[in-house]
Amino acid sequence: KFNKDFGQHILKNPLVAQGIVDKSDLKQSDTVLEVGPGTGNLTVRILEKVKKVTAVEMDPRMAAELTKRVQGTPQEKKLNILLGDVIKTELPYFDVCISNTPYQISSPLVFKLLKHRPAPRLAVLMFQREFALRLVAKPGDPLYCRLSANVQMWAHVKHIMKVGKNNFRPPPQVESSVVRIEPKIPPPPIDFDEWDGLLRIVFLRKNKTINACFKTGSVLEMMESNYRTWCSQHEQMIEDGFDIRGLVDKALDQTTLREVRASKCGQEEFLTLLHAFHQVGIHFA
Ligand code: SAM
Repeated sequence: KFNKDFGQHILKNPLVAQGIVDKSDLKQSDTVLEVGPGTGNLTVRILEKVKKVTAVEMDPRMAAELTKRVQGTPQEKKLNILLGDVIKTELPYFDVCISNTPYQISSPLVFKLLKHRPAPRLAVLMFQREFALRLVAKPGDPLYCRLSANVQMWAHVKHIMKVGKNNFRPPPQVESSVVRIEPKIPPPPIDFDEWDGLLRIVFLRKNKTINACFKTGSVLEMMESNYRTWCSQHEQMIEDGFDIRGLVDKALDQTTLREVRASKCGQEEFLTLLHAFHQVGIHFA
């Protein structure tokens, strides 16, 4: 009955389902986006509390089961089911997102939600424990990584509940956790792709020094090609004998960050780096 490819692990413990909904700070006037409603164990609880629910479900059999479950109830009119892959779906307006997330789409879903405008007030999402811990990890923590630094730029993230595998049917391989993601409003005035582009380079080897990261041949090649593209788009001349290394050095010299490692850096350090590179005309997007 269950389709493994769709990450179908139904939440069978009503206390956990109710706990997730209770922690979502729902208001009567809210529109909620639910990702992967499955048979609707969260959905029916959300419907009791809000004005409208948009549920995006990829499996037509699950969608049919959910439709049947609300049929003839007062909740029926409040529920709109969109059939399809949430990552490829253009999302309508929503205030809050709730999901027992199919683990294959954890990362793309988080970024889709963070890029959504207007920014939602809140997302309460179930993930594999390790993914959840990476989302909330701070500089210096063993699990701190590009995902942590990236998400924490755009949102406040909090681990709110551990959920053991036996709360699901069938039980998944690993433990789960519920995380609360509260987008910063207004969003920080930084370009999403610039930030991600810088983080990709410094987290390629998170325990190497920043200096070493920017000496890697493939990184320099990519930066040079980006620089050339950027210059031609902005009608800037590039002098003969141009060497990207010189420009990178000039940028790094404006900081005191050559010898630090990404694994120990927070937002402030990365912003300093980004700013220094922009000063010399180097862009990452
Ligand atoms: N919400 C239900 C619950 O808590 O019992 C089911 C959660 S189950 C972990 C994940 C659900 O997401 C399944 O119903 C699956 O069919 C659906 N799903 C998987 N990939 C999806 C995708 N890319 N877009 C939308 N739904 C998806």
